Amino acid sequence: MEDKKKNSLWEKIAREENVPLETLQERIKKWTVVIPFNKKRKISHPCAIGEGMRVKVNVNLGSSWEADGIKEELQKLSVAIKYGADTVMDLSTGRRLKEIRKAILENSPVPVGTVPIYEVAVKVLQEKGNLSALTPRDILNTIEEQAKEGVDFFTIHCGLNKKTLEVFSRQKRLMDIVSRGGAILLNWMLTKNKENPMYEYFDEILNIAKDYNITLSLGDSLRPGSVLDATDPAQIEELIILGELTQRAHQKGVAVIIEGPGHMTLDQIEANVLAEKKLCQGAPFYVLGPLVTDIALGYDHIAGAIGAAYAAYYGADFLCYVTPAEHLGLPTVEDVKEGTIAFKIAAHAGDLARGKEKAYLRDKQISQARKKRKWDEQFKLSFDPEKARAYYFRNKPKAEDVCSMCSKLCSIKLVDKCLEFLIK
Ligand code: SF4
Repeated sequence: MEDKKKNSLWEKIAREENVPLETLQERIKKWTVVIPFNKKRKISHPCAIGEGMRVKVNVNLGSSWEADGIKEELQKLSVAIKYGADTVMDLSTGRRLKEIRKAILENSPVPVGTVPIYEVAVKVLQEKGNLSALTPRDILNTIEEQAKEGVDFFTIHCGLNKKTLEVFSRQKRLMDIVSRGGAILLNWMLTKNKENPMYEYFDEILNIAKDYNITLSLGDSLRPGSVLDATDPAQIEELIILGELTQRAHQKGVAVIIEGPGHMTLDQIEANVLAEKKLCQGAPFYVLGPLVTDIALGYDHIAGAIGAAYAAYYGADFLCYVTPAEHLGLPTVEDVKEGTIAFKIAAHAGDLARGKEKAYLRDKQISQARKKRKWDEQFKLSFDPEKARAYYFRNKPKAEDVCSMCSKLCSIKLVDKCLEFLIK
């Protein structure tokens, strides 16, 4: 990115994040803050992810073999943006994958990420009917093609190699491997008896990322898919490999973020964040959830948001949302809304606990409005004003200054009157 453009971007972000420009520059230089931004793209709402920044939320979009509508994916994009997604990822695996990616790239005001191995897998299945027919060249070509189209960040499943596989094979996991990219590469490694191409050709991938100013999100193929598998030697071994690859990326001038679990109990979250920061030189941590229990089917956005709030508090920088449809099916537009809001709440809770001034101000303002029963102001400051308004008007009492919860026994109103009397 040319210097003039870069400087004005950094100034804008420093203002939005309420941090001195020098602090932002210093953190970008030491790779603890990244700004995903392909040099081919125009992004009206770029964002910084990492040390001292507001916690960011990613929303996954994308089709599957079962549902392949461009219109619906664009509706999901617009809902995600409306409710505050900081980035989106197109995880399409259907027949119209290319068209959907193009539409998302054209319409997204925020950075767009993809998982290139998905396109490679779809293509090879369509053309050769066999996943193991993919070649390292297919992977590099797809990455290059998506880079040219303007994708801002890529998930690269480079931490699964022969060494991590050996550790994994000694585990007795309940859920083995749940990462889609991880499963595709595991299949290839075992059928070909070869090293993972994303690990073996990591330098070539770095060259492409460097050419287009793309951020690499180092994927965790061995992330636990059950709370009972969390923080096992396979997961940690992969994190060690990701730490080594982080160093190589930084030496080449490529920004990375590190992907993390997955599923884990609340008590393990702090240690996982600490381990990532230590092993990966403070690179931003991008967590999927984590889901703090495996039994919340239909409510996994809540199980995930609980874990995400804890992770954010302990230092995770980037939260990948989970929808109520997780583990059950492709999310609908409504599921995307529910998931986005749940994770915006988690990110905000993390910001509050980390002492972010802007987050405090919003809570202060809503409390002031609540004290005065100023309903419109409260709606405006909430995550979902339409829902808040609908609840209020569902059973609105005659008096304007109370709601139907306590009505004539409104404690705020009663205490106001008492205090007026005391002051007189
Ligand atoms: S009626 Fe109850 S819930 Fe409603 S504003 Fe008053 S104290 Fe709050």
